[in-house]
Amino acid sequence: MSEKRHIQILDPRLANQISAGEVVERPASVVKELVENAIDAGSRRIEVELENGGARTIRVRDDGSGIGEADLPLALSRHATSKIVSLEELEGVASLGFRGEALASISSVARLELVSNTDEDPRSGWRVVAEGRRMEPRVTPAPHPRGTSVTVRDLFFNTPARRKFLRTEKTEFGHVEEAFRRQALSRFDIGWVLRHNHRTLHQLPPGDDPVAQERRLQSLLGKAFLENALHLDVEAGGLRLSGWVGLPTHSRAQADQQYFFVNGRVVRDRLVAHAIRQAYRDVLFHGRHPVFVLYLEVDPRVVDVNVHPTKHEVRFRDGRMVHDFLFSSLHRALGEARAGERGEHED
Ligand code: ADP
Ligand code: MG
Repeated sequence: MSEKRHIQILDPRLANQISAGEVVERPASVVKELVENAIDAGSRRIEVELENGGARTIRVRDDGSGIGEADLPLALSRHATSKIVSLEELEGVASLGFRGEALASISSVARLELVSNTDEDPRSGWRVVAEGRRMEPRVTPAPHPRGTSVTVRDLFFNTPARRKFLRTEKTEFGHVEEAFRRQALSRFDIGWVLRHNHRTLHQLPPGDDPVAQERRLQSLLGKAFLENALHLDVEAGGLRLSGWVGLPTHSRAQADQQYFFVNGRVVRDRLVAHAIRQAYRDVLFHGRHPVFVLYLEVDPRVVDVNVHPTKHEVRFRDGRMVHDFLFSSLHRALGEARAGERGEHED
């Protein structure tokens, strides 16, 4: 063993690169973080553009609130956020972000350029560039319509060990498309575009009415999903569950097409998964998986979203109640669907 060294505080860039491992695994995680920022900025339209599965370029463009000149260098610093200022605010947080880590992490492992404008005048705007180890971002004037464009190039160019873990262009793009699908399903009121290698793959106009929602479901999940799904909207005890659940006859061999959102955030939760499995238990063949796109709305104070840096997990204050509510709502909806089916046959 080598001689013991003194304890030192890590260089901030290195600290960022280390924590980047928690949030930036591949191009899809960059897309997720950038799009969450665009959503938090109140955007009405979000465009995601990639080259080479995202390994070469990822660009997310939005028409949200933008970032002012003075805030720009801070946006790239770790633990710098405009979303919360106190523990109290964290406990009731409604924004997708709040850790102030994403841009710092991404810019420590890629070449990041951010151009933003808070003003309606498209001639105003500011650019900030950060590349790997170089600290001190420089802010220069750059015209941009109101909103923000973030471009991330050469992901992991300075962390070859991570770059090695990137898969083929097709695989990486598949993950990006899945991240995009989740986010587009989380906000029907936002218009979305996804381009890869200069080809437009998804163009989804905004619309919150049932027709627009169904059109989006069909374009993201296919016609079969919509033709075999029940719509539900149930409210009880401060909880609301809405969305679509597949008929048992439309189960799948794989557990894909399963989307569960808690207050607009896609989550994978064991308690939720268990409640859904129970509801389908008697109606699905063994080894088959239901399809669903479900939205749970709860008071943000009764759910903890700060469980993991990627925020894919949540903790409910009253898990039992949430479980029972999910189970009974789904069980009833599926039961009614079966009764309806029998009724039709009897006619
Ligand atoms: P967090 O989202 O947790 O606050 P980020 O590192 O993702 O941390 O972003 C840091 C800050 O930069 C945000 O709090 C926000 O003020 C600003 N920001 C980032 N992206 C955008 C955007 N697209 N539009 C407006 N502001 C943004
Ligand atoms: Mg963020």
